[in-house]
Amino acid sequence: MLFTADLYSKSLKPIFGENTIKPTAAYKNNIEWSVKVAVSISLLVIVAGIWSTYTTSKITQSKIDQSLKIEQLSQQLTNHYQGLSNALTLAINSGDKHWKNSHQSHRMMLIEKLKMLTDKSQLFDSHLINGLSKIDPAGLIASLNNAAKTEVTIFNHLERQQADKAFAIYRDFEFQQQKLTQQQAFNELQAALKQQATDIINSLQLRLIKTTALLSLQIIGLIALWLYVRRIIRRWHDKQKIRSTELLYLAQHDALTGIGNRALFELRMADGIKQSRRNANGIGLMLIDIDHFKTVNDQYGHAIGDQLLIKIASELELLSRESDTVIRLGGDEFAMILTNLESQYNASTISKKVLSLFDEPMLFDSHKIKISVSIGIASFPDDAEDHDELLRKADMALYEAKRKGRNNFQFFNAAIDSAAKQKIDMQDDLLDALKKDQFSLHYQPIIDIRTEQVISVETLLRWQHPKKGDIPASEFIAVAEESRLILPLGQWVLKQACQQQVQWQQQGLSAVNIAVNLSALQFHQAHLLEAVEKIMNESGIQHGKLTIEITESTLMEQADSLAVKLHALRSLGVNIAIDDFGTGYSSLSHLKRFPINHLKVDREFTQQLPSNLRDVAITRSMIKMAHELGITVIAEGIEQQDQLKFLVDANCDFGQGYFLAEPMASNEFKQWLRHYQQQNTSNIHSIR
Ligand code: C2E
Ligand code: MG
Ligand code: MG
Repeated sequence: MLFTADLYSKSLKPIFGENTIKPTAAYKNNIEWSVKVAVSISLLVIVAGIWSTYTTSKITQSKIDQSLKIEQLSQQLTNHYQGLSNALTLAINSGDKHWKNSHQSHRMMLIEKLKMLTDKSQLFDSHLINGLSKIDPAGLIASLNNAAKTEVTIFNHLERQQADKAFAIYRDFEFQQQKLTQQQAFNELQAALKQQATDIINSLQLRLIKTTALLSLQIIGLIALWLYVRRIIRRWHDKQKIRSTELLYLAQHDALTGIGNRALFELRMADGIKQSRRNANGIGLMLIDIDHFKTVNDQYGHAIGDQLLIKIASELELLSRESDTVIRLGGDEFAMILTNLESQYNASTISKKVLSLFDEPMLFDSHKIKISVSIGIASFPDDAEDHDELLRKADMALYEAKRKGRNNFQFFNAAIDSAAKQKIDMQDDLLDALKKDQFSLHYQPIIDIRTEQVISVETLLRWQHPKKGDIPASEFIAVAEESRLILPLGQWVLKQACQQQVQWQQQGLSAVNIAVNLSALQFHQAHLLEAVEKIMNESGIQHGKLTIEITESTLMEQADSLAVKLHALRSLGVNIAIDDFGTGYSSLSHLKRFPINHLKVDREFTQQLPSNLRDVAITRSMIKMAHELGITVIAEGIEQQDQLKFLVDANCDFGQGYFLAEPMASNEFKQWLRHYQQQNTSNIHSIR
């Protein structure tokens, strides 16, 4: 079955919706890009964060150092200023000139430290220098130098032990005023330095807050970025999940009908068998095959055939229980896996329901189509030990259902098993028989029932099995067809028959036509025409002396290609007869397309003539319509006089059957024909 976009849109689209199974490569590329961009941004942000932390730590370090330095300097200034004042005060109070050294050294140290303050840029940050306007070390140095002159005088007096004079200078209002101003300036300097140290620490705090805020922002940004990336990836994962679910669904479901396909079948069978082994409940496998589905396709077209398959699939789904699985194995073959099967009863109930689905004709595009199905059932563990064996046995049961006339269900059983084994044995024997020349031909006359002339003989294959004796054609032809042995065998029959006809003619027997049965498989062969032509040429059989019989089912199976082949055969001088007519599904109007000479009414209709009124009506209408199409009618299987009488009266052309003559070996036939022609009497004569 084709899996076209159109069919897909009809069946699976409703299951998945419109946006199903889109190519996701572009989406994947986007994700890869997003991740790459996110990684790059993250790296940049991290590097920036590290850098900012590093510089902040560096700055923190230097600010702390700076602040400490200022504190230290401030402390030293205080110490030296204190030392300077104390040395002077103690020298005045004690009158001891030795304080001069201490005073000197403190003064020098003080000036040295104050000088350090004059170059503010060395000590302070440039942006803080503006705030240092209050600090005026040069002024203080000048003030110290100013006071130093008076102080030198004081110490000179002390050295000369003129403590009174020294004290008087010290107590001088102007000097005291000078010292007070100096003290104030010093205090201001101290306050300004303290302020500086505090400002530095404050600026550090600000910097730290800024850095922390920046880092926090960076972290939040990164988290947001990666949350976003995670969302995209999750969405991609979800899409991938949906996509893989869809792909899995497609891989396990039939494109046309939407039910499970062979892949799902394998899976469910394996699961079912496993489960059955655990819980000891059986599994039933039902194989459902539509009878003559090809005919539906041929007659109504593939679109209707597809609709029919979809309808059957949905009906089977409706019938099945939740635990069962409905599968389309391919073509017109469906399967139902019935789990937890307690007895065969369950399977037969479902099978009956399935069969009854087709009791009434189905309507498709105003066509009423009547179909039926054949069902084969096998169960695990009763019939099989594993999955393959179960399938094989269900298939054998299906074959049996078809053999029994279709439209029924069959359970696998021992008889089917032994029949299958016999079939395999027979295939081996057939191969052997072909090599060992165990086949022969019998010939059954076909007689014009009005003129009583033998117009033809049908060639019938016979097999003399060395142990089993004569095996009827009805038993081995189907097996030979299944194993394709019918191809060499059919070739052999055709050759023999043609040679036989030529031989009889050379022996002076009236020029009877010879009819040969050809199987459907032989018609499938590409080189059929060449093979027939070659045999005809080699044997020398005359044009019009060979009839090829094909069954009605072959005609239906290969309707399209067959017309061309039949026309070609006719142009080789071969007559065409449709065998077993009435058993298939063709209609007489269908025959118009084919160049047919004879129609062989199947034994099924002649058997109950003339008592069965239905058969009477069918046979009469077949004869009438065939004549209208210019086709002569051969009635098969005439066994009784009243059958023959009816056929003569019904204007049937030719007859074949045990009542007229049985199939005979070549020599027997020769004698029979001579006798028949000499006597010129027959069973036909007797009914007149
Ligand atoms: P068929 O072509 O319809 O052949 C007629 C069958 O009906 C023959 O059975 C014949 O023996 C049997 N028959 C003839 N008259 C009567 C009658 O009055 N009553 C009954 N009950 N049967 C009658 P046979 O020889 O067993 O062949 C069966 C089928 O096997 C044939 O049916 C034909 O389809 C197939 N067959 C026979 N020989 C060949 C062959 O060489 N090639 C192929 N492809 N098929 C063959
Ligand atoms: Mg035949
Ligand atoms: Mg027949």
